[in-house]
Amino acid sequence: MTRILVISDGRYTTQLRQECPDLEVHIRPIGQPMAEGIAEVIGRLGIGRLAFEAMAVSVAEFETLRQKLTVELVGVQGRVEALRMIKDPAEIAAIRAAIACAETAFAMLCAGLKADDSEKDVADALEMDLRRCGATAASFAPIVAVGPHSALPHARPSAVTRLGSADFVLIDWGADGAGYKSDLTRVLVTGKVSAQLERVYRCVLAAQERGIAMVRPGVRARDVDAEVRSILEDAGFGHFFSHGTGHGLGLEIHEAPMLRRESEAVLQPGMVVTIEPGVYLPDWGGVRIEDDVLVTPDGHEVLSHVPKVLDAVVVGSRQEQ
Ligand code: ZN
Ligand code: ZN
Repeated sequence: MTRILVISDGRYTTQLRQECPDLEVHIRPIGQPMAEGIAEVIGRLGIGRLAFEAMAVSVAEFETLRQKLTVELVGVQGRVEALRMIKDPAEIAAIRAAIACAETAFAMLCAGLKADDSEKDVADALEMDLRRCGATAASFAPIVAVGPHSALPHARPSAVTRLGSADFVLIDWGADGAGYKSDLTRVLVTGKVSAQLERVYRCVLAAQERGIAMVRPGVRARDVDAEVRSILEDAGFGHFFSHGTGHGLGLEIHEAPMLRRESEAVLQPGMVVTIEPGVYLPDWGGVRIEDDVLVTPDGHEVLSHVPKVLDAVVVGSRQEQ
């Protein structure tokens, strides 16, 4: 029989009783380090072999455990992640709600964009809009990257770079709803549609749509990545797509399965993944388009609905003052 016991400390005594009344709890007395708390509990329970999450324990923590414990320590990976890969209906509903919140917030943001807004102004406004729409917070610090900044896939919003200083802005954002997250990216054209922008945009969109079309049960995650990558390679952009095609999302913004070249995952109903190819041209800028996709028993459902055809993302006229 499975026995579940949580080791915590005095800050959570009342909260644990309120939120998890049936849980067995060991509250560490003040001054008892975690490793000693673990040693006390497993000594009492007569445990001889202890598995730990290898991805979550630091080297320093591991060394302390090794000094304090006489049991065999076994680092394991992927167990919890595998349990979380398939979402149940309540989890899918929570992700849908987090997407709806992100989409409403984005619409509010777009209605108020101005040419002299800095990247930071836009990111701050988006965080506030997300909260106004019901999010507890942004699911990660929004990326707002104007023109050349968008060539950095994880650019940080600048307080001095303004929307009006280039023809386009990349925005990557999401909402944290009831613990579950959403993750979307759009490029808005705030100026001219140059020939280069049109070429890159149409290519990334074609790759993204092809990737989405491939999502169905039984397909290997690496094959989705390979197909998306091949479209960008054929267009001469292969070297400029510097990350994987997508990732699972749920309680964390990045979780299994990963849609990458080396991924062993096979898509299964109930998985929720992003499809987000990008092309990043140094000193010019980047285009990434990201949607959240549910694997259904007979294919997929795109859960996010922010318009993405080129005509729909041209917002230039709105920011003339
Ligand atoms: Zn994203
Ligand atoms: Zn993402």
